[in-house]
Amino acid sequence: MPVNQEALEVWIDQELCTGDGICAQYAPDVFELDIDGLAYVKGEDDELRQLPGQTVPVPLPLLTDVVESAKDCPGECIHIRRLSDGAEVYGPAAQA
Ligand code: SF4
Repeated sequence: MPVNQEALEVWIDQELCTGDGICAQYAPDVFELDIDGLAYVKGEDDELRQLPGQTVPVPLPLLTDVVESAKDCPGECIHIRRLSDGAEVYGPAAQA
């Protein structure tokens, strides 16, 4: 099955986040800057996931925006992985 039809989840490594806000511009339903100036993933409940490594599902209609965020993230700290096996498919640890 192509990557873009599989269930994916996304998380942010706040240790590397520069706080520029690119992700929140590209996909504001999934990424948001908190008052600490760092970006966090956001669930369908509109709540930020603030524990290290916490993930949210990538909504299929927003897949392109989320992937573009990972590609353009200057901190290289947005990680998108397959739910089925945990493999990173977009982000700094993804296989080319
Ligand atoms: S694009 Fe990357 S570095 Fe910039 S705010 Fe989002 S997660 Fe942080």
